Amino acid sequence: MKALTELFSKLVEKIRDVEYIDEATLQEIAREIQRTLLKADVPLDLVKTFTDNAVKRIREEKPPAGIPPREYLIYVLYEELVKLMGGEQPAEFKPTKKPYIVLLLGVEGSGKTTTSAKLARYLMKRGYKVGMVETDTIRPAAFDQLRQLAEKIGAPFYGERDGKDAVEIARRGVANLKGVDVLIIDTAGRHRNEEALLQEVKAIYDAVNPDEVVLVVDATVGKLAAAQAEAFMKYLPIHTVIITKMDSTARGGGALAAVAKTGARVKFIGVGEDVEELEPFNPRKFVARLLGMGDLDALLEKIKAVFEEEEVLEEIESGRLDLLTFKKQIDSLMKLGPLSKVFQLLPGGLAAKISEEQIELSQKNLKKWRAILSSMTMEELKNPDILNASRIRRIALGAGVTPKDVKEMLTVYENLKKMSKTLKRQMRLRMAR
Ligand code: GDP
Repeated sequence: MKALTELFSKLVEKIRDVEYIDEATLQEIAREIQRTLLKADVPLDLVKTFTDNAVKRIREEKPPAGIPPREYLIYVLYEELVKLMGGEQPAEFKPTKKPYIVLLLGVEGSGKTTTSAKLARYLMKRGYKVGMVETDTIRPAAFDQLRQLAEKIGAPFYGERDGKDAVEIARRGVANLKGVDVLIIDTAGRHRNEEALLQEVKAIYDAVNPDEVVLVVDATVGKLAAAQAEAFMKYLPIHTVIITKMDSTARGGGALAAVAKTGARVKFIGVGEDVEELEPFNPRKFVARLLGMGDLDALLEKIKAVFEEEEVLEEIESGRLDLLTFKKQIDSLMKLGPLSKVFQLLPGGLAAKISEEQIELSQKNLKKWRAILSSMTMEELKNPDILNASRIRRIALGAGVTPKDVKEMLTVYENLKKMSKTLKRQMRLRMAR
């Protein structure tokens, strides 16, 4: 992952240096994004649409209040990269019947044999009993390699060192290893355009009727991963792709994008030669890592809070202020701190200026209020009118405060609600400033 991570961290560094974003800077950034993606071997057409999209979004979307433009730019980049790498859902590998038959395909040298052992190991660690079958009749070395790997990880193995008929070996493998939860069948490699290989793989597919067909692709082929996948797809369905050697090349980025474009799902990436070095692939986590995880988490959190705050402001404006909205407002306040716009609407905040003491006081109150609101039922939050003395006692008890505290908070809320008409005007003015 190092090569690819370095590539993207350079891009992020450049963006972080940006002071403000005018058209010239935007063009410069667009070129930088293009260079980065091309170096990662992302297919040219994808690079182009990606950059156009990102630039369009940056030009048209206003960063939410409090988020500096360059941070928003990184956020847009993050979101678009997630889409490029396969989108929202992390793909799960879940055996749904027993035995769950997995057929592994790939060209020679892609890391197929190593990957079948990695996958077996991954599943065994999760409590599955896994068997392995080698059907490669061309390369006796493949038989030895998988048998040794199977021994190493303690998985039952079936193969025929001098076997001639791969289809028959696959059949006998299934018959011999009946008791396992998952059966991984490794096939012969060789060149992707070799008709005979594809025919053989298809024949094995027809004979054993696998539950999941997994194509193994070497990251160093970069964007050509798509052509490889498509060559196999002409003969049989590819359910899953595993991209190996992500640790040794920046082209893995291109391989991921190219595979995503074919519609196949990448479920794992190989990140080293050891049997342990297989990782489930989750586009969000993957891209977060590319762009520098820690910072990004904080940024995403902040943007989410700002969006929530804007929602709250809208609700206040429209006069739909209930305690649920009030609670959301307090949550975003606690995330955003006293500089947030909503803060200025809190008790005393409507006076022309908020004093330091008032800020401190309100901040102390925030924690208490959140506790109070958290011990209310949804019905109470949505319909504060039903709060009578006994409910207030129960709420106070639950929050570890006095009934007086609860009443105080309710007064603040009532005031805020009453003022929401005046607020609307004030807020518009304040936002304009
Ligand atoms: P096959 O011909 O497709 O069965 O490929 P092999 O499993 O024999 O692997 C080919 C080479 O790639 C071996 O030297 C493996 O150790 C290496 N390899 C496989 N997966 C990875 C990976 O994720 N990272 C690295 N660095 N090497 C890998």
